[in-house]
Amino acid sequence: MAGILYNRLAIVGCGLIGSSIARIAREKGVVGEIVVVDASEKHRERIVALGLADRVTGDAADGVAGADLVVFATPVLAIGDAMVAAAPGLASGATVTDVGSVKGSVAAALAAAAPEGVFVIPGHPIAGTEHSGPDAGFAELFDGRWTILTPQTDREDAAYAEAVAKLSAFWRGLGAQVEVMDSQHHDLVLAITSHLPHLIAYNIVGTASDLEGVTEGEVMKYSAGGFRDFTRIAASDPTMWRDIFVANKDAVLEVLGRFTEDLQALSRAIRWGEADKLHDLFTRTRAIRRGVIALGQESAEPNFGRDRGKH
Ligand code: NAP
Repeated sequence: MAGILYNRLAIVGCGLIGSSIARIAREKGVVGEIVVVDASEKHRERIVALGLADRVTGDAADGVAGADLVVFATPVLAIGDAMVAAAPGLASGATVTDVGSVKGSVAAALAAAAPEGVFVIPGHPIAGTEHSGPDAGFAELFDGRWTILTPQTDREDAAYAEAVAKLSAFWRGLGAQVEVMDSQHHDLVLAITSHLPHLIAYNIVGTASDLEGVTEGEVMKYSAGGFRDFTRIAASDPTMWRDIFVANKDAVLEVLGRFTEDLQALSRAIRWGEADKLHDLFTRTRAIRRGVIALGQESAEPNFGRDRGKH
């Protein structure tokens, strides 16, 4: 049991991720009080109704005042502006982090707007669903999943190292495992493990719905195969994913280039009937799937175990 690590947690942007943090932070008793800042009036009303916070406001500077931990959990492209709005209220000695899916540009925006004496430690929990908003969050979301922290590489002082250790303890207190990584490396890794798969899903579902003769009805009716999983991914929040591709342009284009080359090679293998080549690749990828399950990052259940949360 970690005990109270921060006296006041302020969450700026309380949708799926922010509300999951609020739920589990309270349940685990790792923070004293919780203040929520959200731009959406509708969401603020839901957060009050769900009893997720001690105080709810639309004013960022007011909401972060007196907080010793501030977590930005808005869509990626809104984090910089939210930090600028919050900055006048930030207390010296406070830790500022975020949960954005892209780290390089977000880390730079947070650092640029941070007042003197504030510890900026960007982060990203590798946990989520295709749902959004405060009703979609659930306390078990981070259980056993990884949270990547990308501390500033130009800070080598003991106070900063202590702040990183405390934030790591906070995430572990929420049930997550913590990894520290360089922000550029994070963006490349996530481009291949998360961003490219979403791009492929958006593309295949878009192509299917454009194909003449494959009507919406047929797409629904015959989607029991591989297509169904793509439709789940392609149902992810449009704002969130627009922001990710805009903010992680370079890394996404890099892995997309590699992917396109490999797809061309597959296309050639099919054209020339190179059955062994196809079989070798499919054997290799099956082993990767089993490795992901063995590492506890996925379930072997047919629905991938996603019914576990209350969403
Ligand atoms: P979400 O459910 O849409 O919640 C975001 C909340 O932030 C909404 O209530 C939104 O209000 C509010 N907001 C937007 N701009 C704001 C601002 N300037 N100030 C205060 N509040 C603001 O999004 P989410 O899925 O939780 O994602 C949040 C972040 O987590 C993103 O950066 C995303 O990349 C990252 N992330 C997501 C996942 C996932 O699977 N969903 C996983 C890991 C990390 P409006 O609705 O009115 O805009």
